[in-house]
Amino acid sequence: MEETKGHIHPLTRTMDEIVRIFTELGFEVALGPEIETEHYNFDALNVPKNHPARDMQDTFWIKGVKETVLRTHTSPVQVRFMEKHEPPLRIIVPGKVYRYEATDATHETQFHQVEGLVVGKDVTMAGLKGTLESFFKKLFGDDIKMRMRPSFFPFVEPGVEIDVSCFLCSGTGCNVCKRSGWIEVMGGGMVHPNVLHASGIDPRKYGGFAFGMGVDRLVMAKYGIEDVRLFYSADLRLVNQF
Ligand SMILES: [Zn+2]
Repeated sequence: MEETKGHIHPLTRTMDEIVRIFTELGFEVALGPEIETEHYNFDALNVPKNHPARDMQDTFWIKGVKETVLRTHTSPVQVRFMEKHEPPLRIIVPGKVYRYEATDATHETQFHQVEGLVVGKDVTMAGLKGTLESFFKKLFGDDIKMRMRPSFFPFVEPGVEIDVSCFLCSGTGCNVCKRSGWIEVMGGGMVHPNVLHASGIDPRKYGGFAFGMGVDRLVMAKYGIEDVRLFYSADLRLVNQF
């Protein structure tokens, strides 16, 4: 009978674990639609009208329905949640997202994100760093290190990329971290005042931080899976290893 037992897909398992950790850190789970309007997916998030992400190459537009897309990130849920709730807010948003691109070993047209948002009166970059340090320690163990590097995303200012010390080689250098000792796992930053304003929150009274991670790549690195397409191949040899 042992052979016929079900296994939880590694993506589902990791998503569940991430959500559980953030719930312990006081976050509430928020969900939203996968079919989105251009307003929630781009405009309210301060993505300029001429931004390349809106191009046919990156976004699935719904045929025959004006200004409607398959969401390209989980960030529209931030806007929807802020419209309906007063700060202080502390949410985590797990979900599927879609990009129109050629598939290969590291690219798929659908993947998973977990996004976080904190809005309140004294929300700082130091708060973002502290929250993520707690999260990474719970996910990878107490020895994990993290670092932030300046970056740009339209919906945050300032924006950062977040790396963790390689959890396979502990920072000494291996194939997965490309000998650097670090793995890029997240983007984040302080929520742009335009995004707060578009969501009905006064940026003079409140501030926020947000962060988001691609779960598929994290799982690939964690378990040494070399082709992202295996996740959706229905090949039980993958799932049965977990
Ligand atoms: Zn490494």
